[in-house]
Amino acid sequence: MRKPLMAGNWKLFKTAAETKDYFTRFLPMVAGSRHCEIAICPPFVNIPAAVEAAAGSNVGIGGQNVFWENQGAFTGEVSGPMLKACGAVWAIIGHSERRQYFGETDETVQRRTVAAIAAGLRPIVCVGEKLEERESGRTEAVLADQVAGGLAGLSAAGFAQVVIAYEPVWAIGTGKTATPEMAADAHRFIRGRVAGHFGAAAAAAVRILYGGSVKPDNVKGLMAQPEIDGALVGGASLDPAGFASIVNF
Ligand code: PEP
Repeated sequence: MRKPLMAGNWKLFKTAAETKDYFTRFLPMVAGSRHCEIAICPPFVNIPAAVEAAAGSNVGIGGQNVFWENQGAFTGEVSGPMLKACGAVWAIIGHSERRQYFGETDETVQRRTVAAIAAGLRPIVCVGEKLEERESGRTEAVLADQVAGGLAGLSAAGFAQVVIAYEPVWAIGTGKTATPEMAADAHRFIRGRVAGHFGAAAAAAVRILYGGSVKPDNVKGLMAQPEIDGALVGGASLDPAGFASIVNF
């Protein structure tokens, strides 16, 4: 039985003060939510504020990226051990906005994932097709390449730490959600590829989250699909009451 994970990706939103205020309002609304794990990934600079605000609660904090070297002359990067030392437990890797605007590739996704695992973080590795790829019938080929290129080189023990997020790029921040059936089809396909690389037991155990305009009013239908093991939520995670109602679907 896979325990759902409901994860919020705050993208480039909220100051430290807004972070503290969010947790003051959010934590009481999810304090009794034992049916799932809960993660929130603020911008790097607000991770300490989030960790402090969430201390002792059932909410884990994560980064939105992680570099593959631990330290060195890499201006602007943040490493796994640094995130871990701040109290982070999760790291989103390969988000489509990273792929689209910052040149992230399956190869860099794999390097970041290996580094996150080595640092003791739980990677949430994002995959998903663009609109033109879906429309030209290439969804499965794209997902297969992303799973192979981003994950297949991991050790079995390393892969056991991974959560996969299926995020069709055309559904992110657009208000267009994949139907629960479309999402479940993609999840089944991804699980099948995982089985090919890591075996049936690893495929049965890995959590695959859905992401793409998840809202309080559509989460229930998505979570009714046995293939969907949680959600990676962008815009709707910024509002404490909205994200709490997603968590408590
Ligand atoms: C995301 O940022 O991962 C995401 C799915 O965004 P949104 O929920 O806003 O579509």
